[in-house]
Amino acid sequence: MLPRHVYVHVPFCARRCAYCDFAIAVRRHVPVDEFVQGVKRELALRYPTVEPWPVETLYLGGGTPSRLGGAGVQQLMDLLLSRFTLLPGAEVTLEANPDDLDVETAVAWRAAGINRLSVGAQSFDDAVLRWMHRTHDAAAIPRAIDAIRDAGFDAFSLDLIFALPQALERSWERDLSAALALEPSHLSLYGLTIEPRTPLARWEERGATRAASDERYAEEYLLAHNALSDAGFEHYEVSNFARPGARAQHNSAYWRGVSYAGIGPGAHEFDGETRRWNVGAYAAWQRAVASGSDPKEGSELLDEANHAAEAVYLGLRTTNGLRLSDMELSRTERWVAAGWAEITDGRLRLTPSGWLRLDSLAADLTLVRSHS
Ligand code: SF4
Repeated sequence: MLPRHVYVHVPFCARRCAYCDFAIAVRRHVPVDEFVQGVKRELALRYPTVEPWPVETLYLGGGTPSRLGGAGVQQLMDLLLSRFTLLPGAEVTLEANPDDLDVETAVAWRAAGINRLSVGAQSFDDAVLRWMHRTHDAAAIPRAIDAIRDAGFDAFSLDLIFALPQALERSWERDLSAALALEPSHLSLYGLTIEPRTPLARWEERGATRAASDERYAEEYLLAHNALSDAGFEHYEVSNFARPGARAQHNSAYWRGVSYAGIGPGAHEFDGETRRWNVGAYAAWQRAVASGSDPKEGSELLDEANHAAEAVYLGLRTTNGLRLSDMELSRTERWVAAGWAEITDGRLRLTPSGWLRLDSLAADLTLVRSHS
């Protein structure tokens, strides 16, 4: 059966942000025609079926998909909608940077079929945005949100980054208030991590910056949980908060472990048994699809142990939690005592304090399961 969830990776960015290790292609001028043709070829090559392809969620991520502009997104959506049939209530998300947004562009996206925008705000502090090498300033964010509203979108998400180096003196509280003032329906909060081979990693190597301490990370994470819960958001996944009814459907499908298709450079895909991923470099992906070859870089068949570990990790990362056996419940009682988890009706759910230890708790529980 064809997957009901489709991710399309649009790799273009105006420049690389200091912390970013994603598969991107820095381009002043975005080769819209070439990219859309590439997506068309990959779809034809890997999914030659002519049967109807109903989808529940379509996600244009990146990179910076908003760099395609109004007409470029229209062109890409025309192609995608010639292959997919959106089911009633389907979620169609586009990731956008604030400086790519004006009313005319947002109107074009809406007309193209986009019904949800995920806006990369990251901070409302100009000095921080410059440090991150973002292309926009703080004033661009409310302007972008005005454009979104004027175009008639009622669902949008904001991304923010926390746990920045102490030396930046960023006020996390002030940034959270600025985000809430824009009344988003959804927020994604990511703690800054220093990934190898990024400008940030080089700054750290030469002593020009230092990662935030674990204590600061935890403090800001819990501050956000309290502030956003007080404002009526559900903290429904380790990094995600939603107004009631506004959870991200596409990402929720990942967290349920269902299959999804991934198209474009660096895109990952899962068919319920095997993960596969495409080559990350735009030029290599383009060459492969232009010559009629599968742009696959690698794949991994999940064995029983992988499936078990994944089920634990996915269950613990959302408020769905996990149903546990009596033995597992007794082994996790100490988590409840420590304030890391709650148990209701035989289901264990991590608290925000537990989510701060997600990796180690998931590893512990996987080990317990493997011995039961
Ligand atoms: S805009 Fe996003 S994808 Fe592009 S460089 Fe910055 S963080 Fe990476």
